[in-house]
Amino acid sequence: MYDIITRKKQGQALLREEIEYFISGYTDSRIPDYQASALLMAICLRGMDDREAADLTGAMMRSGDLVDLSDFGGATADKHSTGGVGDKTTLIVAPLAAALGCTVAKMSGRGLGPTGGTVDKLEAIPGYRTSLSPEEFADTVRRTGLAVVGQSGNLAPADKRLYALRDVTATVDSIPLIASSIMSKKLASGAMSIVLDVKVGSGAFMKTEEEARRLAGLMISIGRAHGRRVRAVLSDMDVPLGSAIGNALEVEEAITVLRGGGCRALRTLSVTLAAQMASLALGLPEDEATARAEAALADGTAFQRLCDWIGAQGGDTGVLWHPERLPRATHTHPVLAREDGYLTAVDADAVGRTSVMLGAGRAVKEDVIDPSAGIRLVRRVGDKVKAGEPIALLLTSAHRESLPEAAERMANAATIGAAPPPERPIVLDILG
Ligand code: URA
Repeated sequence: MYDIITRKKQGQALLREEIEYFISGYTDSRIPDYQASALLMAICLRGMDDREAADLTGAMMRSGDLVDLSDFGGATADKHSTGGVGDKTTLIVAPLAAALGCTVAKMSGRGLGPTGGTVDKLEAIPGYRTSLSPEEFADTVRRTGLAVVGQSGNLAPADKRLYALRDVTATVDSIPLIASSIMSKKLASGAMSIVLDVKVGSGAFMKTEEEARRLAGLMISIGRAHGRRVRAVLSDMDVPLGSAIGNALEVEEAITVLRGGGCRALRTLSVTLAAQMASLALGLPEDEATARAEAALADGTAFQRLCDWIGAQGGDTGVLWHPERLPRATHTHPVLAREDGYLTAVDADAVGRTSVMLGAGRAVKEDVIDPSAGIRLVRRVGDKVKAGEPIALLLTSAHRESLPEAAERMANAATIGAAPPPERPIVLDILG
């Protein structure tokens, strides 16, 4: 390890054998945290080339279970978001891509900090089972074309340990480390086609488009080095996605989109992601895949897939027809505009942190989620507002005491100006 750390400190590229020695040794606890930390810091400062990043990803991927989806044929498709506030696209994109002919056998994570997790959102649906036996998982995929479960405990365990170490050694923000961490889990999950939603902006890991492009380019290169078809969609995360932040609220908003409604940005991004999955997995031209995705939202085919999927995993499909039966908050509090004008910005990161105070997310891993909690944005960026009128509604059942401070923070997160801001597209680019 001493020699490996020295070589990286001097800026040299590590050999595949050195990377594998490090990952297997760290996973087995033969290599101590202090040497692993030194190497991580050297990687942060000196970087890694594409080949090293692909080797690091492969070693982490092989440190645990590899999901074999080969029985389902070549149209298996997955999506991954680098994390955003109000990002409920998996709930829309999974049934939509399945309606287009993709096989979506997906593992998702829980949320930590300002960005939510798909598994927490799905658990807001009464009865939905996020843990299935391998036989139940395969059977659900065979019957409905899709299944979404929580990530298995033994998926890329090397990444799990290293991520915890990075978190306390100021080594999270390295593009090769982030790219290999994300891709090790995606590759181990088994899909042949992978669409990455790389978020850019205040509520995202990547604050600038330039960084997001570098991360996306490296993840595409890693996926291809491992024989997968990969594309990346760069999407805006300066403002929350859609009008709802919080688990039950986001399920309700996803249902609205799948029934042909919802806000334009959320619909556009969902259609883009599902169309990219279908284009990669089924070889469809992009414009045809987009037209088919829009038709599947409009004619109810995607909503029917949602019902089949949720029912197959034990969820109460009645709430899909009657979303008012989802967990409802017992306390609400309006957030009022402080002046007349136009809403010019809503800071996604601040909104995400405020939703955590209300119980919609976790500040630390052990926190318990309140499925009813969250924020409903009554006004969107570009809307005209009047002093004293509500711009948002805060909801909670478990954290009523947080409402006054949360309202203050939410009001601070909103900027009001004299003129509407220029329109910003939700999809900034598609790479690969
Ligand atoms: N998400 C991950 O899974 N890994 C990282 O390193 C950063 C974000």
